[in-house]
Amino acid sequence: MHIERIALDESVRKAMPPQLLVDALSDLDPAVELVEDGEQFGPGDAVVSFGHRDAFFDADWVHCIRAGYDEFPVGVYDEAGTFLTNSTGIHGTTVGETVLGYLLTLARRLHTYRDAQHEHRWRRPSYEESFTLSGERICVVGLGTLGRGVADRAAALGMDVVGVRRSGESVPNVSTVYTPDRLHEAIEGARFVVLSVPLTRETTGMIAAPEFETMRDDAYLVNVARGPVVETDALVSALEDGAIAGAALDAFDEEPLPEDSPLWDFDEMLITPHVSAATGAYHEDIAALVRENVAHIEGGETLKNRVV
Ligand code: NAD
Repeated sequence: MHIERIALDESVRKAMPPQLLVDALSDLDPAVELVEDGEQFGPGDAVVSFGHRDAFFDADWVHCIRAGYDEFPVGVYDEAGTFLTNSTGIHGTTVGETVLGYLLTLARRLHTYRDAQHEHRWRRPSYEESFTLSGERICVVGLGTLGRGVADRAAALGMDVVGVRRSGESVPNVSTVYTPDRLHEAIEGARFVVLSVPLTRETTGMIAAPEFETMRDDAYLVNVARGPVVETDALVSALEDGAIAGAALDAFDEEPLPEDSPLWDFDEMLITPHVSAATGAYHEDIAALVRENVAHIEGGETLKNRVV
């Protein structure tokens, strides 16, 4: 493959000001150019994009600036002979810190004081309400970049970290690793269950009524993966019935989360608008991945983070 043009699809605007990425890649030859919806592609073209467009099938290589590529029709890329790469490997710190923020907020009850602050109310917690993360069990489902980012930080705070991984192989800072067929064993004793898996056929609806019945009634669900990994109706019922204590959600079936969603109104709920990976340095991380793969192509090496 020989790259003659690197096009930056305008959809990257959803994640960053495109010019920052153009500037961060200004050392590349050929130069990166911003293209608009409607642009056509052909042999020699590389595209850096947030979302998919069918015109990309005619390019040689497409880089998705997200870790989750579930909106890309992978099979069609494969048939078209177009390489697809993603941006896994860069969100461990951002999402790890956000998830620890959720955990600390819920355990130390910070959300309740912030809510009370809006009403100029001096709210003190009931005696048994607050707890510490130290000593509590957290189950991390999906031990890739996000999952390890969470596990490392949770372990540093003295949490008992267990996890779920397809291979079942051990992972640093995770005391017990379960295979997905032992999901219930993994989650049943956990105070926090964190979802950090990609959205696939296997993970769609992975957390539904039977899982909420299995979880502790004082447990919190954290979803930084994708909305459909959780059956939303079952989650709402579990929250209404007290089958679990609460949740922190960054990903939803429909985004933005509709105004009339029942999820907004639970007290023990933290809702963030799909921003757990947000950082003003995102363009630098993406530029490093693109630059590395351009070098790989020039050197005739295998692409990093290749999906197909
Ligand atoms: P990754 O590829 O590094 O890790 C995903 C891990 O999940 C892999 O280790 C994989 O083997 C594992 N996995 C797959 N199916 C599994 C299953 N059935 N059971 C247990 N483990 C399974 O990807 P990542 O960078 O950690 O991102 C993971 C997902 O998180 C992405 O696909 C994306 O959907 C989501 N994500 C969300 C945000 C956000 O802003 N909320 C940011 C980045 C990624």
